[in-house]
Amino acid sequence: MSLRGWIGTPVIVLPFQLLAVSSSIVPLEAQQLATTRATGAAPAAALHASSYDSVFDSLLQALPVAEQVATVTNLTIQRDAARFSLQSGKLYLLTPVGGRTVAAAFRGKGVFSFTPPTAIERGRLNRFEKVDSLEASFTELVLIFADTTADELRSAATFAPAPATGEVNGIVKQSLEFLADEDTREFEPDLMSAFLNGERSAAFYAHVKRSSGGPLMFMVNPNELEGARLHGKVTRRGYQRRSEVISQFPLRGIRPDAAVRRERLRQADIESYRIDVALPPTGIGEIGFSAAATVRIVTDTTVGPWVVFELFEKLKVDSARWEGGDKATVVRGKESALLWVLLDGQLRPGDVRTLELFYHGDLIDRFGDFFLIKSSAAWYPRSLEGRSLAKFDLTFTTGSKYLLASVGERVDSSISGRSTRSRWVTPNRIRNASFNLGLFEGYEVAEKDALPVTVMVSEEAHKKLARQYAQQRNMRERVGADVSGSLKFFQSVYGPPPVPRFYATEIPGWHGEAFPGMVHLSWVTFQDTRDNGEDEVFRAHEVAHQWWGIGVDFATYHDQWLSEGFSNFSGLWYLQSVSKNNDRYFEILKQWRSSILLREGEPGPISLGYRVFATRDDDLDDYQTVVYKKGAWVVHMLRILMLDLKTMGDDRFKAMMKDFYGRYEGRRASTEDFQRVVEKHAGAEMGWFFDQWVHSTATPTYRVAYRTEPAENGQFRVKLKVRQEGVPDGFQMFVPVTLDLGKDRKARVRVKVKGPVSEIDLPLMPAEPKKVIFNDLEGVLAEVKTEGWN
Ligand SMILES: [Zn+2]
Repeated sequence: MSLRGWIGTPVIVLPFQLLAVSSSIVPLEAQQLATTRATGAAPAAALHASSYDSVFDSLLQALPVAEQVATVTNLTIQRDAARFSLQSGKLYLLTPVGGRTVAAAFRGKGVFSFTPPTAIERGRLNRFEKVDSLEASFTELVLIFADTTADELRSAATFAPAPATGEVNGIVKQSLEFLADEDTREFEPDLMSAFLNGERSAAFYAHVKRSSGGPLMFMVNPNELEGARLHGKVTRRGYQRRSEVISQFPLRGIRPDAAVRRERLRQADIESYRIDVALPPTGIGEIGFSAAATVRIVTDTTVGPWVVFELFEKLKVDSARWEGGDKATVVRGKESALLWVLLDGQLRPGDVRTLELFYHGDLIDRFGDFFLIKSSAAWYPRSLEGRSLAKFDLTFTTGSKYLLASVGERVDSSISGRSTRSRWVTPNRIRNASFNLGLFEGYEVAEKDALPVTVMVSEEAHKKLARQYAQQRNMRERVGADVSGSLKFFQSVYGPPPVPRFYATEIPGWHGEAFPGMVHLSWVTFQDTRDNGEDEVFRAHEVAHQWWGIGVDFATYHDQWLSEGFSNFSGLWYLQSVSKNNDRYFEILKQWRSSILLREGEPGPISLGYRVFATRDDDLDDYQTVVYKKGAWVVHMLRILMLDLKTMGDDRFKAMMKDFYGRYEGRRASTEDFQRVVEKHAGAEMGWFFDQWVHSTATPTYRVAYRTEPAENGQFRVKLKVRQEGVPDGFQMFVPVTLDLGKDRKARVRVKVKGPVSEIDLPLMPAEPKKVIFNDLEGVLAEVKTEGWN
């Protein structure tokens, strides 16, 4: 029995799960609205709601008011790429929330038209809906909005009293299922934010009940970089999602400043944390969790006074107060992942509010002698984007039998009685903070000229497992050697890491995860090291995140391969360096190619990021296949493209990677940023390469024939004929070809293959080739088939 699948799975950050919309609360003065819309600035302050619950309840009870019904014909509502044509039927304005009309429902005959602006997004639509442009007739429609929809409807139709028939109550209820959750009392946070804050914003949501096919949901969200989104219903309830994105893209007119590099345009952030964490042993051998966190809330736009953060759903807030002692209003539904905070007014750039939050809960589970921290990074409140940078000052108190490691530098540690207390401070702002503890033994890896590494493994837990599973000797030494060795290797090829010391701690999960100066590694890689190199790649992948993901973060989800693909390639590169031969490097590359070719054209391009894993049961594998494996292949292909075939040296490639790292360390980089660095080092325009491999899905099949004939002076002429299939005609690559000339002589050339058929004369060879290896060194992610000349 195999213990494992592939264990390289990271924690995947899903976008927020509810698709919410809401109605709002407090009317905004017309003049303020006009100003806001004219300048495009953040919405002006308005009367905000004083109670979350009253807004939530009003939204959930929004039903048509009897006196607000219109018979409509040919009324059109256009929002970005979506058009709603209400051909004939009845339109209802729903009960106002806080005096403001924020919802309407339609029943009759209508058509929903939707055409995404880019080829990739049209491809996504095609994948879900089998068309590049939607024209769907519908029978019912619900609109929920914080924008000008109500005014628009009132000027286009005449609303008059009519008896309440309840005929749209059903569809209103259905639409709310995608926006709200009655148990957690969550509502889609950006709509909710507009309603709580009494804002007039561009937020708009439409629930379309089609004549045939499942419901479609379209949303305009001005707080997101990609603010236009079409969702469909999820049939499979994985990850507790109710809907999934079919297509999403920036709203028209939104041209994000290239320097901004953020996925959310408007949110509250936390710039620093001081957290006192108690992790007491309980009577039954478990570990409890409670925390007192002091957080500094900031923003770089104007937000509030209601602002929202994410916090692990199992944690309960006991109390909250402002610096100075005043009680703070915070709202958190039962097992909700959201934490709402009511500030004393709007927060503007440069403002800071310091909140003290006391919370506790079921964070840590025990498995045998292992402890699992169920949320490695949402155990403290964080921004909705989840990747905002902050400083951390963390103090942990726990039983002295447990060994603990955290991000940051340990500045203090003491034992008193049966408890230990340690304080960890991050000198710089980091993306996420994590810690780990257990019945660990610490093992210091002492390697010359390497960063100090501590490996924390639970030997006792493994002893118990040894009855079931084969267990290697020297677990900690083997894992420690790879952690230390890969740190040293990456330091030499990429430059100094962003941390002065390193912890590798064991987790009872099947994955790995990386934080600044710390990796969590699956127990499986301690239990046993496979001989095919998979474990070296896995361990080094997590270590490589110190450079890719932490040192250089990715700009948006489109660029996540700069973290995962790069780390995967790095793991492979480390394997090659430690193996002292190339076999396992190429063997793993070939395995990855098999899974890529198996799903070719299916999930989507690398630049689709996590969105490749929608719509299929094996979708998690698709994310691995495309972003991790194909991402690594892309880096490998660049390496081979830049290889000096005479010396077989990869100096140019190394210089490029080091340059890219150095240039973007401490910042977020995009695929375009990387492309520019590649172009600088390749001395050529490389748009074609990124278009083919990062932004498209096709991989070529080469059908290759060759013939040789004697030429003058005892030399030989070699002709190649390559038929290229499976890719557009303009697809091109420079393919390495190695000719074995016998007596240990080899000739290496690179040939350009483009178009359906290429006939290529190689340079004259001094001897007749014994063998011609087309696409040597796996230079191209391709399938190669050899055939006869004719
Ligand atoms: Zn990773």
